[in-house]
Amino acid sequence: MSHVFHRLPKQTLPVAVSGDGIELIDAAGKRYIDACGGAAVSCLGHGHPRVVAALTRQAQQLAYAHTSFFTTQVAEELADWLSARAPQGLDHVYFVSGGSEAVEAALKLARQYFVERGETSRRHIIARRQSYHGNTLGALAIGGNAWRREPFLPLLIEAHHVSPCYAYREQRADETEEAFAQRLADELEQKILQLGPETVAAFVAETVVGATAGAVPPVREYFKKIRAVCDRYGVLLILDEVMSGMGRTGYLFACTEDGIAPDLLTIAKGLGGGYQPIGATLVNDRIYRTIVDGSGFFQHGHTYIGHATACAAALEVQHVIEEDRLLDNVRARGEQLRTLLRERHASHPHVGDIRGRGLFIGVELVADRETKQAFEPGLKLHARIKREAMAHGLMVYPMGGTIDGVHGDHVLLAPPFICSESDIERIVERFDRALAGALSSID
Ligand code: PLP
Repeated sequence: MSHVFHRLPKQTLPVAVSGDGIELIDAAGKRYIDACGGAAVSCLGHGHPRVVAALTRQAQQLAYAHTSFFTTQVAEELADWLSARAPQGLDHVYFVSGGSEAVEAALKLARQYFVERGETSRRHIIARRQSYHGNTLGALAIGGNAWRREPFLPLLIEAHHVSPCYAYREQRADETEEAFAQRLADELEQKILQLGPETVAAFVAETVVGATAGAVPPVREYFKKIRAVCDRYGVLLILDEVMSGMGRTGYLFACTEDGIAPDLLTIAKGLGGGYQPIGATLVNDRIYRTIVDGSGFFQHGHTYIGHATACAAALEVQHVIEEDRLLDNVRARGEQLRTLLRERHASHPHVGDIRGRGLFIGVELVADRETKQAFEPGLKLHARIKREAMAHGLMVYPMGGTIDGVHGDHVLLAPPFICSESDIERIVERFDRALAGALSSID
């Protein structure tokens, strides 16, 4: 009997013992191509010597110093590096240990900003139905995933939800992208008006949706229109790039492609690439100044914020990505992966949609391609695909759930940025076999 309280306590999981580039190796010596980076985390793959060396150096020199007493050079350097490249105005970086903490910090910063301004009635958070922002109570409260929220509903703060920008299912056949984006922006505006603009603090969205539906990018102009609505009513825009940020889409920050800057931006997974647990909330100067010139401090904090070893790992991960020009590879390999999948599945009866940006790609499976009818939820097709893929030495990230009453099976592919052309071919070949195996198991 294992004493670890596992996430999947009834399953016997392989024991991961080492990592080698894009592969993980288990105790039996079996190799798995990590085609999802765990959960879009391992952007540099495993065992990168430069990161291991940087981590070791920092741990030997100074592993940890509490942020009430000290700052560290490495935290300062990482913050400088990020703010120099961040979307306009996001000049300040609050370090945390992961994605949920980054979202919690963003929510509290939004609230404290309005409290400091005397706008204490601003308390409502609006998010989208198709969203995942983390599992701590605040982040879970604003997320839209009904299944994850259900048991904890009595513990969750009030949050409000609007429609996602989910073109595959929500864009009407007779609607242009522009009209679709406008309809969604109008819906947000109506929600703000209905709640009373003086009561709304923030709108939160993932720039590209990750863990609920597998790499759903917004249509062009969506975020420009959303930004305009937020500005009209003084509502802060929080973009959650915990999964989609730090190069995953081929740009350091996914919202660069959407031509906007949020007021607060959360990052995590690709920041440390899994070498250490680290996340951050990027804060615009207006919010920072209001708090610093007001009460003088952010009423928040955790023991491990700004952890020196975590910052050292993240800084080296980012240096490698930049020096090796890996974002060029993300864009090229992402294009290759999408093209290969689309070519191979152009007439597959159960592949409904292939979408995404960079190396952040979602495949949506349907029972009927014409009607987009989803598979029976009880079949758990997504879990079968994961099982089959593992058997074929491939890690993919499965998702199944109900979004606005529509059940769906999705698979997220998020391979490391170091993938070669032939790695991508191997991923597609194994994925096809896993898909075929999973589908034949339900015939
Ligand atoms: N936000 C987004 C968009 C995520 O995808 C996730 C995790 O999948 C989180 C927040 C939560 O991050 P963590 O699991 O590091 O707490």
